[in-house]
Amino acid sequence: MDSSVGATAPLSSPRPSLSAEGRARLFPSATDAEWTDWRWQQRHSVRNLEQLERYVRLTPEERAGVQETSSLFRMGISPYYLSLIDPEHALCPVRMQSIPVRAEARVRPGELEDPLGEDKTRPEECIVHKYPDRVLFLALDTCSVYCRHCTRRRITKGGEAELTKDQMRRGIDYVRNHPEVRDVLISGGDPFLLSEERLESLLAPLSEIPHVEMIRIGTRVPVVLPMRVTDSLARLLRRYAPVYVITHFNHPKEVTPEAREACERLVDHGVPVENQAVLMRQLNSDARIIKELSHVLLRSRVRPYYLHQMDVAEGCEHLRTPIAKGLEILEQLRGHTSGLAVPHLAVDLPGGGGKVTLQPDYVIERGERETLFRNYKGQTYAYPEPEETDCSCPYDEVWQARSRELGFRGR
Ligand code: SF4
Repeated sequence: MDSSVGATAPLSSPRPSLSAEGRARLFPSATDAEWTDWRWQQRHSVRNLEQLERYVRLTPEERAGVQETSSLFRMGISPYYLSLIDPEHALCPVRMQSIPVRAEARVRPGELEDPLGEDKTRPEECIVHKYPDRVLFLALDTCSVYCRHCTRRRITKGGEAELTKDQMRRGIDYVRNHPEVRDVLISGGDPFLLSEERLESLLAPLSEIPHVEMIRIGTRVPVVLPMRVTDSLARLLRRYAPVYVITHFNHPKEVTPEAREACERLVDHGVPVENQAVLMRQLNSDARIIKELSHVLLRSRVRPYYLHQMDVAEGCEHLRTPIAKGLEILEQLRGHTSGLAVPHLAVDLPGGGGKVTLQPDYVIERGERETLFRNYKGQTYAYPEPEETDCSCPYDEVWQARSRELGFRGR
């Protein structure tokens, strides 16, 4: 047990704004109006070696990485995200997530172009239907920052295109024609880069489908382009509730005041926000960091939901952690901090097997009369089994009929 996993400083404590510091250093002529305009940020995204070298003194590994990956996967870094980079340290988590290194150009044995086997279950260009009651809706292939750990790079390395009207219509028709689909996850690319008009043209018809009970949107915008989360965007999402936003902070350094404001704006408008982090070697592969991330997210009203084991995507081996590291981190969180701060540790099985979750094994012995556990302090406790073991729920038939009558299902 590692008692060194410490508490985090309160968010309200005075601290310098990283992005203000970086902005003053890198973009001194940007006006406030420009800096807070997400379209300006997009237009000034850093996309090639020449531009990047104007802002960051690259290591030889990074320079070679940018060159060697240029035909493999896009590079793009918003000025805002660039402003968070530590100019002095190549292992800065923001830097590691946005600037390629040479290792990324190498494909190792076992790595897959489509690590989650999504293309095998892709009945339409924009639909992945892998699980029984939910689909993934790929709305575009564009992102604000191209994450070096992206496991959907076969899609995000395309031509920076949105769906055509016909492709979008076919995707919506697919959902309409599959009554088993109750949950639609819109992703891409980053759906928050769509114009509000375009996003609404997707949300409105989906939310009218009676069997669609909820919509989720996967986005990295609160992390890399928080100025995009305007009141008007938040109001739009609220109109189509329940819409859940699933975002992707990987390190507490990313939870800046601007990022926090973006998340809180969504929550204030009634849009729940959850976080899926990816465990990455030397970036966040430490219980102290994950604990701090969870705490700072909860203080920003974002629920730490998943901690993902890195998928076996091409060019990501150098960032992958052993499975044992995730379990060790969980062991150092469970019991040591609030349950809400302990994300599910998930492995998405290579080739399309779907997600499984892992946790340390707390069972010492399973008996008929009792189960023996160890707790987070390593102490042993017995849980007695009940006398009665019939777990059927006779009222359920009644409830099912009644809830159908009352129209409980649907939006
Ligand atoms: S925002 Fe998501 S889809 Fe885009 S590059 Fe990052 S991980 Fe990939």
